[in-house]
Amino acid sequence: MPRVPAPRNRLKNTPVAGAKRVLLAAPRGYCAGVDRAVIAVEKALERFGAPVYVRKQIVHNVHVVSTLERKGAIFVDDVEEVPEGSHIVFSAHGVSPAVVKGAADRQLDAIDATCPLVTKVHREAVRFAKQDFEILLIGHHGHEEVEGTMGHAPERTTLVNSPADVPNIVVNNPDHVVWLSQTTLSVDETMETVRLLRERFPNLQDPPSDDICYATTNRQVAIRKVAAEADLVIVVGSSNSSNTMRLVDVALEYGAKAAYRVDYASEIQQEWLDGVVTVGVTSGASVPEVLVQEVLDDLSDAGYGDVSQVVTAEEDLMFSLPKELRKDADGNADERGLGGRVRQLDWQKNR
Ligand code: SF4
Repeated sequence: MPRVPAPRNRLKNTPVAGAKRVLLAAPRGYCAGVDRAVIAVEKALERFGAPVYVRKQIVHNVHVVSTLERKGAIFVDDVEEVPEGSHIVFSAHGVSPAVVKGAADRQLDAIDATCPLVTKVHREAVRFAKQDFEILLIGHHGHEEVEGTMGHAPERTTLVNSPADVPNIVVNNPDHVVWLSQTTLSVDETMETVRLLRERFPNLQDPPSDDICYATTNRQVAIRKVAAEADLVIVVGSSNSSNTMRLVDVALEYGAKAAYRVDYASEIQQEWLDGVVTVGVTSGASVPEVLVQEVLDDLSDAGYGDVSQVVTAEEDLMFSLPKELRKDADGNADERGLGGRVRQLDWQKNR
């Protein structure tokens, strides 16, 4: 989807019964894993020149993907589509060992931008499989992250797509099962699935630490607080972004009277604002802050210029670049830490 810049003054400022305001959730937007993956593609283009191939969308956001395409990235579904000897970046969602092997077989120079928190889940899957556990992976069928994680222990992993799957799960040894999860799920729904799994398998082992990542959790906690006071919640993000879609679900669960997802401000409909006093705004973990800014600008045209941040956590997690990109062509080191918080604070500087 090409970028559609929001035309100003498109939304009308209609009267409502109260002082119009916006509650802006924080944390929102870019997480450390997305920041790292996007910069990995940008640096690969600088370092090796266009084209650089990327397996799948580097992160699930149409604006990020189309921006990188304009800079020379080519997104493919399969390593088979990439000319031999080219550079390829693996997306933040991770890949299975079979994909790594497929790239090596084609003599591709692979740069792995898998989020380190996804790699952590891969390692857990490998370790539990070695210990002969049967792994119940809670996640969404067909999601790239789930395919990558299952590929690390394909013989021993069963996908649990939703709580409704639990009664039908078949395992060989009910006393030797462990659950793992996709990193971007609803915290509440996942805990409900685990509760049901434990009813069926009382000796179910927990993962060593939460698989749902800090960024997913923090964004859900922030939107819960906003939603409780909001007539309408607008979530900026793409429809294939799991954590974006969960923010819409969580907003509705926690009291928002309505919640909609938009890729761009231009998608906000006038009728959504009918009678609305308080608008909550947030964004998924793969959304650059500029898109949130455009939503705020359009809302301001409609009389919602009073913006307060609702801050429920500070984020300072940082990751370093994939090792292939830590030095430039002249051998100079790039050891900067990459985190989501830096880009979020840009909003405060620019307003
Ligand atoms: S949402 Fe979480 S797991 Fe996914 S890239 Fe961001 S930090 Fe990593």
